[in-house]
Amino acid sequence: MISREHCLAADARDPLASLKSRFSLPDGVIYLDGNSLGVLPRSARERSLEVLEQEWGSGLIRSWNTAGWFELPGRLGNKLGRLLGAGEDEVVITDTTSLNLFKALAAAVRIQREQAPQRKVIVSERDNFPTDLYMMQGMIDFLQQGYELMLVDDDHPLESLLDDSVAVLALSHVNYRTGAMYDMAAVSRLAHRHGALVLWDLAHAAGAVPVDLNGAEADFAVGCTYKYLNGGPGSPAFIWVARRHQDRFWQPLSGWWGHAAPFAMQSDYQPAAGIRRYLCGTQPILSMSLVECGLDVALEADMQALREKSLALTDLFIQLVEARCGQHPLTLITPRDHAARGSHVSFRHPEGYAVMQALIARGVIGDYREPEVLRFGITPLYLGHADIWDAVEVLRDILDSRSWDRPEFRQRASVT
Ligand SMILES: *Cc1c(COP(=O)(O)O)cnc(C)c1O
Repeated sequence: MISREHCLAADARDPLASLKSRFSLPDGVIYLDGNSLGVLPRSARERSLEVLEQEWGSGLIRSWNTAGWFELPGRLGNKLGRLLGAGEDEVVITDTTSLNLFKALAAAVRIQREQAPQRKVIVSERDNFPTDLYMMQGMIDFLQQGYELMLVDDDHPLESLLDDSVAVLALSHVNYRTGAMYDMAAVSRLAHRHGALVLWDLAHAAGAVPVDLNGAEADFAVGCTYKYLNGGPGSPAFIWVARRHQDRFWQPLSGWWGHAAPFAMQSDYQPAAGIRRYLCGTQPILSMSLVECGLDVALEADMQALREKSLALTDLFIQLVEARCGQHPLTLITPRDHAARGSHVSFRHPEGYAVMQALIARGVIGDYREPEVLRFGITPLYLGHADIWDAVEVLRDILDSRSWDRPEFRQRASVT
């Protein structure tokens, strides 16, 4: 049996341990929800005051030029691209993941309409994050013309849905609920073999697992900066487009920021060359500026070391929960296979919602997802082995004592 001392010894050997000091974490909290909202980088406090007082307060309108505001989506996109296996000028930070998904989907459908107009099926999976499915449904409703959505589920495996009617395959790299991860290169190859383009949602992957978009020959990708990248609540998302597709079509949210010369004030839309055409309107500069603080910490960490630590911590979590809470009705829904696991672990429990509220009341913050799922984000930038040990000990105590069984823990809040 693993002891807390084993965990402390592992933490003492951890090459990433010093990175925890780069974040401002509240006392008395073990934060297992960095896959939903990342933590506060220490540098963000000073940076936010600088942007607020100097760039906005003093610089005012001049700061679009003098403080680099206009270049921010591409400059930060290039920094992020290094974590995603993207080349220079292939990523911009902008808008929300939902909006970027719409743009990428539209571009992919448009490319297919030109080269293979009979392809009118968008394939995704039933267990994809709801906003992804909603955006696809909205796109199809808008397109009409016989487009349809087909979903991978237990009765419809991916291979059975891919044929020469498929325009786009749109999947999440890491599943938001189960933490299951696709082999991006293998699935992209499979899609291409059937003539489909592939669009990856990296919301639960960016900053959490190694991603190599160009190595996998993916076509489009989108994702969040407010999860594992610690960009801040509602910080703008990102979009990556393979260079070979960038200039083929312009996306339909063709606002002036995507124009070749926004300040020429022309009446006709002329898309900017390259990834800039995936911008739409004026960017949220306060929020976007802070994305850099989280990115800089992530770029300091070696991604392979991060991945090894993530797998060690998720293994430890699973092992300790099964050993210490084994008599309770917990069912692991996260793959045990390393190659198929992202960086969070989920267990089902029939009283999952109340159990999670009881955990949060004790300072162990994870989250709850329907149905019955306790979700624990394991973020190696600021968690150690002893944190995992301590969190499982609180879970064990809550389950053994049934202290979750109280009316206040059953009251549903609007965000779970
Ligand atoms: C978190 C998440 C989103 C969020 O989209 P927003 O537009 O930023 O609200 C989208 N897709 C996936 C897979 C997610 O996990």
